[in-house]
Amino acid sequence: MFLEEIENYAYLNNIPIMEKEGIEFLTEYIRKNKVTKILEIGSAIGYSAIKMALVNKNIHITTVERDKERYEEAVKNIKKMHLEKQIDIRNMDAFDLYLFDKYDLIFIDAAKAQYIKFFEKFKKNLDRNGVIVTDNINFHGLVNSTEEIKSRNVRALVRKINAYITFLKENEEFETTFYEIGDGVAISKRKKDFN
Ligand code: SAH
Ligand code: MG
Repeated sequence: MFLEEIENYAYLNNIPIMEKEGIEFLTEYIRKNKVTKILEIGSAIGYSAIKMALVNKNIHITTVERDKERYEEAVKNIKKMHLEKQIDIRNMDAFDLYLFDKYDLIFIDAAKAQYIKFFEKFKKNLDRNGVIVTDNINFHGLVNSTEEIKSRNVRALVRKINAYITFLKENEEFETTFYEIGDGVAISKRKKDFN
């Protein structure tokens, strides 16, 4: 099946597509909550966008990827799956993307060091009853690990993810539930007083 080819390509080229468990959880959420309008930050080669679009034909996804090569691969994959009508993919930096529409679900799956910034930038595009879903909250088990983390870069990233977790936990406007699924998924909803 073509989806398996995409999974293989990702594996061989070190592209961090969503883990099986995580993508199943996300697509199940979309199905159960009748989500139709989705914004994704970080398309990579289109895998998660394709999976979400396949939930049903009413779903429409806007997704953004800054890397040219990955974007081009995503475009090919979306065409091959005949999902061009459902998936609108843009080759640009998410910070240069200005949208006026409101979305039922905003999926943040891009540069982990920028999670707070993505959240702050795109929360205005969230529908009243919408949710912001964030992937890789556990960062391969390193976020809660007590073992000494060797690389300076990895340490910095873990610090950033921890800062994001604190930001979500202490957020006045949003209530977040953390799930130990895949590489860690968070679902944030607007608190009632802010609706
Ligand atoms: N959602 C994909 C995986 C995304 S991997 C899936 O599960 O199939 C994260 C991607 O985010 C990378 O391809 C990276 O190039 C992209 N990215 C990181 N920061 C970005 C930014 N500021 N704007 C756009 N894309 C970004
Ligand atoms: Mg991810």
